Amino acid sequence: MHTLGLKNFNWTSGIFIITYHLALFICLPIYLYRTTPSSILILASVALLFLSGVSISAGYHRFYAHKAYRASKIVEAVLLFFATMAMEGSVLKWSSQHRLHHRFTDKEGDPHSIKKGFLYAHMLWIFKKRGPVVDAAIVQDLMKNKLVMFQHKHYTLLGVLTNGISTLFVVWLTGDVFGAIVLSLIARIFLLHHFTWFINSLAHTWGAKTYSGEQSAVDNYLIALVTFGEGYHNYHHVFASDYRNGVRWYHFDPSKWLVWTLSKLGLAKDLRKINPYFIKKTMVKKDTVILLDKLREIDHVQKKPFEERLNEVSENLLSKLSELSRLSHEYAQSRQRALKKQMREFREGLDGLWNEWGRLSRQIMSLS
Ligand SMILES: [Zn+2]
Ligand SMILES: [Zn+2]
Repeated sequence: MHTLGLKNFNWTSGIFIITYHLALFICLPIYLYRTTPSSILILASVALLFLSGVSISAGYHRFYAHKAYRASKIVEAVLLFFATMAMEGSVLKWSSQHRLHHRFTDKEGDPHSIKKGFLYAHMLWIFKKRGPVVDAAIVQDLMKNKLVMFQHKHYTLLGVLTNGISTLFVVWLTGDVFGAIVLSLIARIFLLHHFTWFINSLAHTWGAKTYSGEQSAVDNYLIALVTFGEGYHNYHHVFASDYRNGVRWYHFDPSKWLVWTLSKLGLAKDLRKINPYFIKKTMVKKDTVILLDKLREIDHVQKKPFEERLNEVSENLLSKLSELSRLSHEYAQSRQRALKKQMREFREGLDGLWNEWGRLSRQIMSLS
């Protein structure tokens, strides 16, 4: 159980969050009552929301916390500039907490465990003062990065400066001082914080456990729409080193598209991707466990043949996927056309097995 009282209340973060919520609830109705915001003000606010949000996702999260790709110092500086504007703390502190979340997901060491309640995982955990702000042992690599340490040391000043510069820019663009403060500063930070917090609350509650049923993280494309692609959270918890969260080409993941574009421009490299056949193997293994559990639960006279067939098809699929994984690795090294042809034939040979897997899964799930 968590206890939150005056003794362990984090005054710095607490006062900041409560103050901007109050400021927004008071100022926004007054502003909207007096003025209709111009389209340029709305556009500028949305652009700043996107820039700071995608910098948290592609920068703080995938680049620093997970080292999912490498980037030039210029890219690092730009990502840090816009991510600082998000007012989510220094990247050193953020990564320390996030790496603990991955290491102890749903357990006692998880800073925002969903097991302590939806609201706790969403935002109450920020109000609670814990031990050291940064766990040096878990972010040693980042402590060697001069840009990271500079941002950590001067975070408050940099937060004020980046937000001051962007707000002044919006004032210059629109001539609307009150509008710039209410929409492009306070409302933007409000939305960005809640969108980020949704990953810790909603993306651990509402959605599908596509790759692992053992922990609370879920995949939900609706959450991906407001989290710059971070809604495929079950995938992310299983394959955290992948630079993508939305693994399929059509998955909405602007952070993935940004990193990919940077790599094509020569500004990022070594983008880490999990082998697609390994991903499929993980899904088959997870579904086999679920289907065997389902068979164990039911009292069905004919369940033995289902069990035997399930194990047979699952083993067959897993060994063929392993073979494909090996072939694709070999092809990536040698680029031999013959290997590509062999892989295509192998995949075509798998079609029947996939159909049988689907049929068997549906049959078992319909048993009662
Ligand atoms: Zn998570
Ligand atoms: Zn992560």
